[in-house]
Amino acid sequence: MTTLQVPRKFNFSAGPAVLPLEVLQETSEALFSLGKTGIGVMEHSHRGKPFVAVLAEAEALAREVMGISSDYAVLFLQGGASQQFIQVPMNLLQGGTADYLETGVWSEKAIKEAKRYGTVNIASTSKAENHTFIPKTHKFTAGSKFTHFTSNNTIFGTQFRGEPTGALSPLVVDASSDICSKPIDVSKYGIIYAGAQKNLGPAGVTLVVIRKDLAEQGAKDIPQLFQYGEQIKNESCYNTCPTFSIYVVSRVFAWIKRNGGLAGMAAHNEAKAKVLYDCLDSSDFWKTPVAKEDRSLMNVVFRLPSEELEEKLIKEATAAGFDGLKGHRSVGGLRASIYNAMPKEGVTGLVSFMKEFEAKNG
Ligand SMILES: *Cc1c(COP(=O)(O)O)cnc(C)c1O
Repeated sequence: MTTLQVPRKFNFSAGPAVLPLEVLQETSEALFSLGKTGIGVMEHSHRGKPFVAVLAEAEALAREVMGISSDYAVLFLQGGASQQFIQVPMNLLQGGTADYLETGVWSEKAIKEAKRYGTVNIASTSKAENHTFIPKTHKFTAGSKFTHFTSNNTIFGTQFRGEPTGALSPLVVDASSDICSKPIDVSKYGIIYAGAQKNLGPAGVTLVVIRKDLAEQGAKDIPQLFQYGEQIKNESCYNTCPTFSIYVVSRVFAWIKRNGGLAGMAAHNEAKAKVLYDCLDSSDFWKTPVAKEDRSLMNVVFRLPSEELEEKLIKEATAAGFDGLKGHRSVGGLRASIYNAMPKEGVTGLVSFMKEFEAKNG
């Protein structure tokens, strides 16, 4: 295995985001030759034996790591999570009503697209309080087609601790920013989808886990490319699938498996988040807008006493090797994204830096 020669920074970017070093090393070799084929992973036909084996392994590992039964299909699609904002209602809404939980920018976008295909009932919303908490009660609609929520709000730094209770239709979750960060009971869901570029791999592929009976009920008068049923029939290869991204995702699943599976990820993520939140709670210098019980373990959002200090911290942190701490442009402030692949040392290092910064500027 090659050793990377270039020194690496700690990358706290919200996405595309940090990947495990071992995955990068494995990938760097596969770029030149996938196994002993003498042809790089990006250069293989998506219908040739070597890549078909990669795709099969990616699916098998996803099933094993996430505990996905044969009642569900596992798809690797393109267009990002944003395409699923469209594809889900395009297939399943068919002029009916769907329940949506509005907890941030991404769910707002999903709602906007769903309205093209039917009626959206906002079952609960945190909008009036700038999405700083997760609503605990919801008004669901009898006869709704599905119930959509965003399990982790990447921009606002809030996260559901479990599934919303009381839904009257299959749960559909946008899990883009916390997929595989903790165990999940797949059987509670109709659809789980996630753009890969936060916790699963590079941009360009979206994991979609869908109950087969739901896929079968999908609209047939929409373009074939967007029919889940067609994608299942063609095993994600209705057209050329994103081969390279799928390869990397398969390596990330193998890495998760080697590191204790989803329970291992959860323990690692809880420990990291605790170090960071303990620092934020240790003095008034740090402010966290998010309700304590709803804090995200993936995207830690915080503020300083002034915007000048926030800019100063970002600048000095970047110089010290802690990159990507600027908050989303729509909310400002600071955000440390600490996905699965962020090592504990990245977080403890950042906290040491923050304590020093506070001592000098507090
Ligand atoms: C990043 C993100 C998206 C957007 O993903 P794309 O793949 O860029 O479309 C959607 N939802 C959530 C929760 C995200 O974090």
